[in-house]
Amino acid sequence: MRGNNSMNNKKNKRQNNKQITKIEDLNWKQINKLNRKKTIFYQPISPLEIHGPHLPIGTDLFTSKDTAAEAIKKLQEKKPELNYILLPAIPIGYCKFATDFPGSISINSKTVRDVIYSVGSSLAEHDFRYLIICTYHMAIPHLKGIYQAMKKLQKKYNMKICEPWGPYFYSDKIEKNEPKLGFDTSKEMHAGFRETSLMKYQYPYLVDESYKNLQNIYRDLNSPRVIGKKFKDLGLKDGYVGSPSKADVNYGRWFFNETVKVYVKSTLDLYDGKKQDELPKKIKAAMKALFWS
Ligand SMILES: [Zn+2]
Repeated sequence: MRGNNSMNNKKNKRQNNKQITKIEDLNWKQINKLNRKKTIFYQPISPLEIHGPHLPIGTDLFTSKDTAAEAIKKLQEKKPELNYILLPAIPIGYCKFATDFPGSISINSKTVRDVIYSVGSSLAEHDFRYLIICTYHMAIPHLKGIYQAMKKLQKKYNMKICEPWGPYFYSDKIEKNEPKLGFDTSKEMHAGFRETSLMKYQYPYLVDESYKNLQNIYRDLNSPRVIGKKFKDLGLKDGYVGSPSKADVNYGRWFFNETVKVYVKSTLDLYDGKKQDELPKKIKAAMKALFWS
């Protein structure tokens, strides 16, 4: 029995370590050999943005690429007949409101749109059809750029393309599914309990210990009243919203795996031609009302 178990463990380990295919490692002949109907690309994209005095500016970028990579590992086991190709993470996105701290790099939303469109059309010109956009940055102008590009790609190339995290994040599903904690996590808007937990799970050595002493600070960053304002205008002198001191590595693990699950489900639905979850109406309306910035 013991022998068997250890053999199974070894086998599982080998499967889990199965390499992820990164596009930059391939030559064009290898790419050309990929079955167009069975190849799915992943494009992680999120800006470098300050996340309080305790988390790295790469928090959103790390999360988008790590969850994409983990989803690919899961899918390779679940549906090994498809090819999953990871594109290099693009460190851009709109985060103007956070640029009153050094380290935030905001790229306007039209540029985000043009970059996503360029990536998608370059693939589509060679008849690749499946593309998953992985972003962990949920600012409306950033999403506007992504969704406009997706619309254009669907129209021009009939591309099967989706951004899975936005519709999940802006629904009430996190609060419904998460472990019960006894406080309102929907107020954890930026570098608070959720993201600090996430980074404690993924990159504990990049979390500054000072998070334990940070005061709880709450602001509604989705309120129309904050449009055009930067963090410091809202009294956020350290650049976070929520309660980072409550951070918990187990919650971080749950949150990470939940994101992975959403990517896995969206990929399978996209491949099967099922309808994707959409952004809620109020988010779509906000996106529409927004001028390009
Ligand atoms: Zn973030």
